[in-house]
Amino acid sequence: MTEIFSDILGHDHVKTGLLHAARASKLHHALLFIGPSGIGKAMVARAFVQSMFCEKAEPGAFVRCGKCKNCLRISSQNHPDVIEIDEEFLRRAYDGGSIAAIRIEVIRELQKSLTCKPFEGSRRVVIIHDVHKMQEAAANCFLKTLEEPPEDTMFILITSQMQMLIPTIVSRCQVVRFAPFPMEELAAYLVSHGETPDVAEQVAALSDGSIGTALKLCSGDYKDEILELFSYILETSSVMQAFETAGRIRDRLTKESRDIKFGIYNHLLKLLSLYVRDMAVLKSEPSGRIVLRSYRERMMRRLDSTKMKDLTRVAGNIQDIYSAIQGNANELVALERLMISMHGVLF
Ligand SMILES: [Zn+2]
Repeated sequence: MTEIFSDILGHDHVKTGLLHAARASKLHHALLFIGPSGIGKAMVARAFVQSMFCEKAEPGAFVRCGKCKNCLRISSQNHPDVIEIDEEFLRRAYDGGSIAAIRIEVIRELQKSLTCKPFEGSRRVVIIHDVHKMQEAAANCFLKTLEEPPEDTMFILITSQMQMLIPTIVSRCQVVRFAPFPMEELAAYLVSHGETPDVAEQVAALSDGSIGTALKLCSGDYKDEILELFSYILETSSVMQAFETAGRIRDRLTKESRDIKFGIYNHLLKLLSLYVRDMAVLKSEPSGRIVLRSYRERMMRRLDSTKMKDLTRVAGNIQDIYSAIQGNANELVALERLMISMHGVLF
């Protein structure tokens, strides 16, 4: 038996708030979970729902076993009284059509099923993922359900794009805000999952506080390539080598598909931007808080000979290369220009 959220990392504020409201029976019938993608909103939602249905939990105990029939059916999305509208649901509903939007027929179908009693017990939960994908007609139709909710049905709406929701939906929900993970916490988590501290720090920096993104990067095929190219750039030591490095990066990435190539570039340039940003922080305040802490000493060694305006220029060149690559300009020339501008500044 675990307390509802004890095995979920971070989000202390959210967890305490939800528990507190649940214990005081002040939980709204519609919760709106807001926060960046991949930070665990769905995980918190399912854990919470498990505690409502767990066969081993006393009513009002706010615990879940995670192993009983109900807990397992909820984690595998097979509980008849826990309806999850997600990509898989839409794929089935549209029979292979585009799943870019939640259309009105999905909401009508949902409303029809809510007119029946719950299948097994006395309550039911509806979880709608990416609720911002609701088309306007669908959202207006759904509004009626939120205004006159069926008894014993709880709604958990999840979104990373609150600005895309119609305000009347937001105003009828209890908003629960999820914050991105602090970088250090995320890095520590990755270390506990077997990454070295250096790699964990860089992956955390690339993940914008999203644990999902970080884990995807760690398990993906391109993490090593990105980190290798990054350290290769920093090991460059002369103008001659700068040209070679540019050529090598271009050659390494030519074999990749366009999407993968953009993805690798994106991450690589982001690391470089963070590196330049960290140097600028140290330049103005040597004890300043930086992101790529394992490079602190290396950065400090270069600071005396580096001027702030050089750092600004390199930061600008990194931005230029984004546009060069996307606009199909000569990639090699753009890379060479970037590498040369970094000579004497980063290496
Ligand atoms: Zn259970």
